[in-house]
Amino acid sequence: MKILVTGGAGYIGSHVVKQLLEKGCEVVVIDNLSKGSFKAIESLKGIKKFEFINLDLEEITKLEELFKKHKFEAIIHFAAFIEVFESTQNPLKYYLNNTTNTLNLITLSAKYGVNKFIFSSTAAVYGEPDSGEIKEDSLLNPINPYGRSKMMSEWFLRDLASSDEEFKFVILRYFNVAGASMDGLLGQNYPNATHLVKIATQTITKKRDKMSIFGDDYPTKDGTCIRDYIHVEDLASAHLSALEYLNSGAKSEIFNVGYGKGFSVKEVIEKAKEVSGVDFKVEISDRREGDPACLVANSTKLRNLTNWTPKYDDLGLIIKSALKWEEKIK
Ligand code: UDP
Repeated sequence: MKILVTGGAGYIGSHVVKQLLEKGCEVVVIDNLSKGSFKAIESLKGIKKFEFINLDLEEITKLEELFKKHKFEAIIHFAAFIEVFESTQNPLKYYLNNTTNTLNLITLSAKYGVNKFIFSSTAAVYGEPDSGEIKEDSLLNPINPYGRSKMMSEWFLRDLASSDEEFKFVILRYFNVAGASMDGLLGQNYPNATHLVKIATQTITKKRDKMSIFGDDYPTKDGTCIRDYIHVEDLASAHLSALEYLNSGAKSEIFNVGYGKGFSVKEVIEKAKEVSGVDFKVEISDRREGDPACLVANSTKLRNLTNWTPKYDDLGLIIKSALKWEEKIK
């Protein structure tokens, strides 16, 4: 099966490419390497050869050449910006890359009859849910441009599928991904990453001398935000399950991808200290704009309708794998 993967040099994309290659799929990866890592591409080529093209999704003519050259059977679309706070400061950057470029890609997908589309979406489309686990049919009410940029792309896919019965999509709404591949091959390479577990492991490894908790006055058990942290290999395997699901001829679907367990920022930091045996300095600072108090997945639908079986549902293990990776890239 020949698959186009956009953003395949990125953190989640590279883990998915790894699993696709291990399964014997033929993969063409495009990435503009703005956040993605060429090292990840080189590591992946050790598993199986594949075509990598340094391409920005804005380069529509070159992108179309690819569709003419290859007969793709499916597209897995990762390429996007992902930082909530940055999206509040520079919204148009997010709408251009996450929304306009996605529309262009979907347009080519429709034009060239590529009828299976797997899209990286986010729990940020839900905004500020009341409480408890979030189901896929919960109200979509994103509170930041990042979430809105993804929600619009979701609608492009939903509307296209309504008008074209051949076209099928799976939208995966990611909760908080963390960790690194268990064999040590891949991890989060981007040095300026802003995500909590990454920051904690950079502090443990002394790449930072301290870290901050962004707000301890949220309406949660300890005042800090709650998230559902999922190991990157389990998130990656959800894409392979989604592909099998589409290959079985099933209808378009939207799936949450998380474990259904919420941990506060304080709990994550405590766990990071515990598994590393390193005490580090933590400051309380102001809330970060755009952060909802609590996001926890109900992923029953993914578990019931696909063959997805998570293997690393353990916060300590997630942090340990992230730490091992951070030590490796010192
Ligand atoms: N966070 C924090 N300090 C950091 C990084 C993140 O307190 O250095 C908090 C952030 O405010 C949010 C949670 O950790 O409440 C998860 O943030 P992250 O950026 O990892 O993921 P997001 O949920 O924004 O996608």
